[in-house]
Amino acid sequence: MVGKTTFGVLAAAVGLVVLAFGAVGCDSDGSKAGDEDRIDVVVTTTMLEDTVQQLGGEHFQVHSLVSVGGDPHVYQPQPEDARTVAESDAVIKNGLMLEGWMESLIRNAGGERPVIVGGEAIDEEKLISVEGATDPHVWFDVGMWRQVTDTVAEGMKEVADDSEVVEEIEQRHAAYDEMLAGLDQWVQDRMESVPDDHRVLITSHDAFNYFGQAYGIDVEAVQGLSTEQEASQRDVANIVDLVEETNAPAVFTETSVNPGLIEQVARETGAEREGPLFSDSVGPAGSGADTYVGMVQANVEMITEALGGDYEKFDDGFASADADGDGA
Ligand SMILES: [Zn+2]
Repeated sequence: MVGKTTFGVLAAAVGLVVLAFGAVGCDSDGSKAGDEDRIDVVVTTTMLEDTVQQLGGEHFQVHSLVSVGGDPHVYQPQPEDARTVAESDAVIKNGLMLEGWMESLIRNAGGERPVIVGGEAIDEEKLISVEGATDPHVWFDVGMWRQVTDTVAEGMKEVADDSEVVEEIEQRHAAYDEMLAGLDQWVQDRMESVPDDHRVLITSHDAFNYFGQAYGIDVEAVQGLSTEQEASQRDVANIVDLVEETNAPAVFTETSVNPGLIEQVARETGAEREGPLFSDSVGPAGSGADTYVGMVQANVEMITEALGGDYEKFDDGFASADADGDGA
């Protein structure tokens, strides 16, 4: 009898502890309890924000300076950003000249903290250069993003400096990397299903060069690598000519870029206006594209269907798992 009672009390206590952790885990802004134990990381993009969440779980508190739907090329740091960086344990950025604004922000924040640069992992000969500038959009080659994720994981382990946390990062990283490998193959298969005469992706700005390189599709954009550069009417006319030459069935708007020029191209050519593709940010919460993996899937679904390919859903291996514990 005594044993049974003890077990009952223990079970109740364990239940309470689980509930308490659950509450912290569900609250993205973080409640006061447990916050002081968490490692504060500041990132520059929502793709990196998701990466830290996937790898770090509840041990990390991550803050993305550029919010969902924002444009990391032209972000203007807010006065509070310097304090956010100053209070952080580490900064993780994409690099490859995506976030030119980050240098002065780190300087203004003062102090010392590791700065992990995800893009440093990529072999230089694989990097694409457009008119002398390095293309920073490495997240659209899932194979490259796996390398970025490796670098982020290594950096997070160093910052964590706690064997239990390090072990958890390693476990999460191994499972996540396996999913990314599956995703990479899935994108390859879906893009191979697009007929040869439709293999052209025409978008607002030059965000999809790595996607084109990895998955064998021609990529053309009205605007250059950065959204900072303004497109001229001559750029638009060139794209109109290209759509007519290639018989491209569709042109794509992007979430982070004004759709005006692509809409003009669609009007002048009769090509379908598709999208918006998620280019430099994941999608809003609940959109299904609110993670890196979801963002890639959403883009590939739009591209495959608009260009006459054969779309099949990605099986991430977690379809039946109820990660949120919400019964969904
Ligand atoms: Zn971009």
